[in-house]
This record gives sequence, structure tokens and C-alpha cells, in this order.
Amino acid sequence: MKVSAITHLDIQKIRSEFPVLDQQVNGKPLVYLDNAATSQKPKRVIAKLKEYYEGYNANIHRGIHTLAETATKAYEATRESVRDFLGAAHVEEIIFTRGVTESINLVAATYGRSFLQKGDEIIIGTLEHHSNIVPWQMVCEEKEAVLKVIPVNDRGELDLKEYKQLLSSKTKIVATNHASNSLGTINPIKEIIELAHAQGAVVLIDGAQSAAHLPIDVKALDADFYCISSHKMYGPTGVGVLYGKKELLEKMPPYMGGGEMIKDVSFTKTTYNDLPYKFEAGTPNIADVVAFNEAIAFVNELGKENIHQHESELLAYATDKLSTIPGITLIGTAHHKVSVLSFIIEGIHHFDIGQMLDARGIAVRTGHHCTQPLMERFGIEGTVRASFAVYNTKEEIDSLVEGLKRVVNFLKQ
Ligand code: PMP
Repeated sequence: MKVSAITHLDIQKIRSEFPVLDQQVNGKPLVYLDNAATSQKPKRVIAKLKEYYEGYNANIHRGIHTLAETATKAYEATRESVRDFLGAAHVEEIIFTRGVTESINLVAATYGRSFLQKGDEIIIGTLEHHSNIVPWQMVCEEKEAVLKVIPVNDRGELDLKEYKQLLSSKTKIVATNHASNSLGTINPIKEIIELAHAQGAVVLIDGAQSAAHLPIDVKALDADFYCISSHKMYGPTGVGVLYGKKELLEKMPPYMGGGEMIKDVSFTKTTYNDLPYKFEAGTPNIADVVAFNEAIAFVNELGKENIHQHESELLAYATDKLSTIPGITLIGTAHHKVSVLSFIIEGIHHFDIGQMLDARGIAVRTGHHCTQPLMERFGIEGTVRASFAVYNTKEEIDSLVEGLKRVVNFLKQ
């Protein structure tokens, strides 16, 4: 990632690059605060999709005609951008998937199935999204391995003391998110990785909520696997990445069989392709991968420090303002957070809050956010979650606060 000095971003100019933001919803200007679910897409990403389909749509890698070569170059250019974005050493370490969910399933189904044995242990955190829980449960069931969970404190921070207690020579895999989608907690992943490595375990980091917000350097972190999703970072849906250390990916069996992932096929024996193609069976999501490159360029040009600075200001402002609402409890008050604000309001169901905000054009998420065990830890069914992106403004937070005050007044009368 490029390191740039903090500069003041021109948010109105940035907003003008996102056509979807410029609309009325239910008669009010849209206030889009559901960015942890998916972010909106700038014009350059949308234009790239059109350019690809209008200009050089063709299947990649196999063709020798000009369109196929142009499409292949564009697809592989994104791989190189991702390598740079994640600070990976080799382009072969970048595998395109459908998203973080598929990236984690790939590792569980290949690395997990191949190298776990009865009685081995996998450690995950309480903050995990279901996609970083269920694939591990599936492989544990199959291999008779054991899943252990790092508890969190009342602020929603992982308890590292407990983590150290859980780690042992039985630990083979540790999987945790870089940042929590439900509470915003930023986890101390460098320390988590170091401690796991000291026991000989490999570590997978779910970067769904960090990719657009935090610096990432897989080499400096010494992460074994790192997963990101294009749609959470201003890119198209249906594209994700699995970064894996070359020596690990090389010893893992393929995930899916089919075209592209082979070197040679006969009815008696098939040999597999080299990395990264060994893990990319079939025709990939070419157009969206090509357009993903524009999203990476968008984030790089703004600079992650600048994005983080702006979003941290929004988070601090929103945390202050929301705290004044009668009956509100913030869920997730970690010292280090990405721009996610989860809360409940006493006596009002989160769905009702979400619906009433929607009537005012304000889009937030309500429910368990695919983190049911985490909700259970806090003794709640779900929260209202406002999550901010680089194009959000303090005025939008004022609209949220105004909307919430009206909800409280209306429903508590
Ligand atoms: N992990 C986290 C922390 C997430 O927020 C999400 C998406 N909500 C996922 C995993 C799943 O990602 P994807 O949509 O790319 O499959």
C-alpha cells in the first residue's frame, strides 16, 4: 500500500463520483449508512464494467485472439494490483474467489481437510462472522477436530490472556477477523499471528471489514491467509481474494475441479495447474475482476490514512451524538474501532428502528449481522448498525440522530 501524508479529503467531490447517493428515498435524500454490508460503487468502477462488455468481452487465458488477450491482460492487471494492495510478495499468491465466504471455505476445505487430524484444534474469536465460523465447524466435524473460541470483554475486545491459554501444540489453525462487522473492533492481529506461529499454527485473517479502512501488509503481518471482498471496498459484488503464502498454497489440494485448474487431463490421471490457476476452476467473474482494479485505484488514490482519518472523525462525532439519545446503549466500545456503530434502544425493537429510519431515507442494518454467537454473548438478539464510508458526512449523522430522536419520541409516547 502507498503511504501518503494525511490530507483533507474533498468529500463533496468524492460523493459526486457515486451516482447512487444522489437520490431521494421515500421522499428524503438518501443517507446510506450500511457500508459494512456493502459499499456503493464509484462511476469509474461502473464505467469499467461497461468498457469491458462493450470493448473486449472474451474468455481469458485460453484464447489467442486479440480480445481474449486484452481481457486476460486486464484480469491479470487486477491480480497485480491486489498483490500490491496487500503487500504480498508474489502474484501467484493471489487467488480470485467469489468473496470472503468462498475464500474461507476454500482454506477450510483444502488446508483443513488435508492437514487436520483427530483431536487437533482450531481457534476462532467470538467476534466472527458466520462465514468464519461455519466452515471451521464443518471441517471439525469431518476430521473430529475441536473448535475453541476466544472470549471478548464487555467492550467487545478479544481477551488475549484467554487466547494465550487456549493456544497449545494442538492448535493447528487460528482464524479471526481483522475488524468486526458487528461492533467495529479492530483486532490486534499481528500479536494474534505471532502467538499462533509460536505454537506452529497457521493463521487466516478475515479482512472483509478492514480492506477499505485499514492498512494491510500481509508480509509485515506474516499472515498465512488473508481474505478480502471487492464489494466491501467500492468494487463489484461477486469478487473476492484469497491471499495465501505460496508454500502453503502449493501443498494444498485444489478446491474445485474443472477447466483452467489443470495442466493435463486423461481418464486415468490429471495433473494440476500452477498457482494461482490451480484454485481458479472454470470461467471466472472476468468483468467484475477487471472493474475491481478501479476500486483498488480509487482507494489507493484517496489514501487509506486519509480515509481512516475521515471515518474516525465520523465515528467519534456519531458516538458523541448518539450517546445523547434517551435509552440508547452502544454495543461495542473497543478502544480501536473501524467506523461501525452498533446500538440498541431500550424498549424498541431494532427492526422497528430500521423501518422508521428507512421511511426517512436512512439506510442502516438491523439484526444479528451474521454474528449470532456474538449477539448471544451480549444477551441481545440484534442491534441497529450504522457503518460509515469515505463519502459519508457529519450532516448525514445529524439526520440519523434526528431520525432516532423522532423514533424514540413516537414509539415511547
Ligand atoms: N466476514 C465479515 C467480517 C463480513 O463482514 C462479511 C460480509 N458481511 C463476510 C465475512 C462475508 O463476506 P462476503 O460477502 O465477501 O462473502
